[in-house]
Amino acid sequence: MLAYYSDHFVLPLPEGHKFPMAKYARLRERIIDTGILPAARVQEAPAASWDDLRLVHTPEYVDAVATGTLPPDAQRRIGFPWSAAMVERSRRSVGATLAAAAAAMEDGRAVNLAGGTHHSFADRGEGYCIFNDVAVAARALQRDGAAQRIAVVDCDVHQGNGTASIFQDDPSVFTFSMHGAQNFPFRKEVSDLDVPFEDGAGDVEYLTLLQRHLEDVLTRHQPDFVFYLAGADPYEGDRLGRLKLTIDGLRRRDEIVLHRCAALGLPVAISMSGGYAPDIDAIVTIHANTIAVAAALPTTVR
Ligand SMILES: [Zn+2]
Repeated sequence: MLAYYSDHFVLPLPEGHKFPMAKYARLRERIIDTGILPAARVQEAPAASWDDLRLVHTPEYVDAVATGTLPPDAQRRIGFPWSAAMVERSRRSVGATLAAAAAAMEDGRAVNLAGGTHHSFADRGEGYCIFNDVAVAARALQRDGAAQRIAVVDCDVHQGNGTASIFQDDPSVFTFSMHGAQNFPFRKEVSDLDVPFEDGAGDVEYLTLLQRHLEDVLTRHQPDFVFYLAGADPYEGDRLGRLKLTIDGLRRRDEIVLHRCAALGLPVAISMSGGYAPDIDAIVTIHANTIAVAAALPTTVR
């Protein structure tokens, strides 16, 4: 199994910014140091091309991000200040999911060690999301004839509002989001299937509903490719999540999604998505567990 990483993921931020940027480099280190993946299987994430970004995003938005000419309120909604490094990071993050999707077609599954930027819409970004990696990669697979029917299984604790909006009139891409009802984004979009949780929901409630609805999505939509957003933010120690999943519960979540897709011979591209625990080591453990579950599966695709 291949994973994609770039030093560009680690964006320099102003003093006092709360985003836990250190998690990306530490995750790369952890998966190599613990032997989850050999160093040679962690490859440099390429930058997505401007043309690929325009498969989803409006030319006006892509240009404004590229040239640093977004209006101040649009930049504020994104949550990172504009810089050339921010643009490069955004392109690499999409490029990593594009590369992971192509690798998953060969190997059964592959991982972006960042990504999951699901609050990005066709014409705007918010919540630390500039371009929508999964949406761009889904459209690229369809353009290249690699897959036609795609399911997005979004287990980040926040609703995948950008993804839902981008595919709202596209029946070929099924959007499934499990998220906190009382959480950002406060105005939700309509996914093909939304499963909201009240504050404090724990492992049993979450995993029971995941199992039931995942089966329903795979049966109803019959996808030939799956994108999995394995957010670390449903964790009980998360600063923003409001749910109460344990580290073991999150690993069980990964097993449910990845084992079921493997049993059906469905290729899966995995994005790490959110994770805001003050304990960065916990975020890294949750993500490393996801990668370990994926790496342990056989590489056969139907
Ligand atoms: Zn999130």
